[in-house]
Amino acid sequence: MKISGLAIVAAMTATGAAAQDIAQANSDWFVAGQATLEERLALQPNTNRARNVILLNADGNGVNTNYAIRLFAGQQAGGLGDDHVLPYETFPHMALVKTYTVNGQTPDSAPTASAMVTGVKSKNTMINVDGSVNVGDCAALPGNELTTLAQIADGMGKSVGVISTARITHATPAASYAVTVHRNWENDSALPEGCDTQKDIAAQLFDAMSNGLIDLAMGGGRNNFLPTGFVDDEGKEGRRTDGRNLIAEIEALGGQYVWNDEGFDALATGGNGPILGLFEASHMMYEFDRTGEPSLAEMTAAAIERLSANEEGYFLSIEAGRVDHANHGGNLHRVLTDGVAFAEAVQMAMDMTDASETLIIVTADHEHAITFNGYCGRGSDITGLCMKINNNGVEHTGEANLAADGKPYTVAGYLNGAGSVLTAQAGGEYFGSRPSVTNEEAMDPDYLQQALVPMSSETHAGSDVAVYAHGPFAHLIGGTIEQNVIFHVMHHAMTTE
Ligand SMILES: [Zn+2]
Repeated sequence: MKISGLAIVAAMTATGAAAQDIAQANSDWFVAGQATLEERLALQPNTNRARNVILLNADGNGVNTNYAIRLFAGQQAGGLGDDHVLPYETFPHMALVKTYTVNGQTPDSAPTASAMVTGVKSKNTMINVDGSVNVGDCAALPGNELTTLAQIADGMGKSVGVISTARITHATPAASYAVTVHRNWENDSALPEGCDTQKDIAAQLFDAMSNGLIDLAMGGGRNNFLPTGFVDDEGKEGRRTDGRNLIAEIEALGGQYVWNDEGFDALATGGNGPILGLFEASHMMYEFDRTGEPSLAEMTAAAIERLSANEEGYFLSIEAGRVDHANHGGNLHRVLTDGVAFAEAVQMAMDMTDASETLIIVTADHEHAITFNGYCGRGSDITGLCMKINNNGVEHTGEANLAADGKPYTVAGYLNGAGSVLTAQAGGEYFGSRPSVTNEEAMDPDYLQQALVPMSSETHAGSDVAVYAHGPFAHLIGGTIEQNVIFHVMHHAMTTE
């Protein structure tokens, strides 16, 4: 009797064909898929108590932004990009995170950072304040301050550090040490008249360093620590109107202060006193422009060196603050170079710690209005034009796809922002025809990707972000979770018996 190929397949399906008997079993894709399966079958939960917890947050690095960073990193390494694996993408456990807040379908970084360090959602614009309080309502603050993971860690005798490439008084880093009904109150001149239930954010960092809550803080934002009329080492004037020089006050406590890479390189990380690094008057430089100040990975290394001297362990919050700012600017190149610097900081944290005792959480606070066109062939530059798919090979044809207006278009774009193709006309109307762009123009580091809705600053988006986990109780990160659940996992890992 003649048996058809179809009959053989049917017979195999009925009994469940072993993987090695499947026709494509020798394909590289199939072999790699089997290897991943074996790794996942061998996974064992790590139920050790976490001596250390490191929370790495790339501000504004949602799933879409992260996709662009992955392709950029892979293309910089000489590959097509898609198959590149960022350091945290090797972590065995991850989840999707819902980032909405008590009152925001689209969040800002204040309530998102608060959710991660307090375990509850709250209102946009406020940091570590219960969601029942109205924004800016100083009088309602007493009794509504939330307890933070930094305070809990400090209470357990752990050291606490906070790092950001943004101003250290900016929303995400402030969530490690401040309580404020408005995120913009970074120095006393911003605090409204008569608000006596809280201090400004910089003054709260001083208090946290003087009472031992914060052992190390590094980032930008020097002008919030210095008085008006006082000119700093880089020729910038302070903004405080209360006459306080918080940097001098921290030095008077026995703290070390550094403001450039020379001072940073000379830091004594073996000591006990607090360490304050303020490398810019406002935000630190983008990685692409960075000169004279440490990278995020270098700050991460210094912080781990300093904090790991404590036998009881530490909580360290690290923010790549400017992925967000470059997205706001519609300038994808700087988003990606800061994103790669973030990935290097994650790698540094992985290299300097032991997964048996250190929980590493990598996430973003929210996404941006960044999106991608199709159909692009493999190897289309992530900041360049969307090239045609090659039916006769792997890499694109080198010929750009054209839109209905006959013009090429880039792989990445923004739904809104400064790169809007519409321009203001007399009378307030907006009109436009989309400019043509070459691959070289699109790949210029200063190019603003094309956007639709005109806005001076591109907006955040409410879509999901990912959270990746590695170390003790990392297996509790899974599914589609609310952002405040991240706190509960870190807290459990740190406090479990
Ligand atoms: Zn932002």
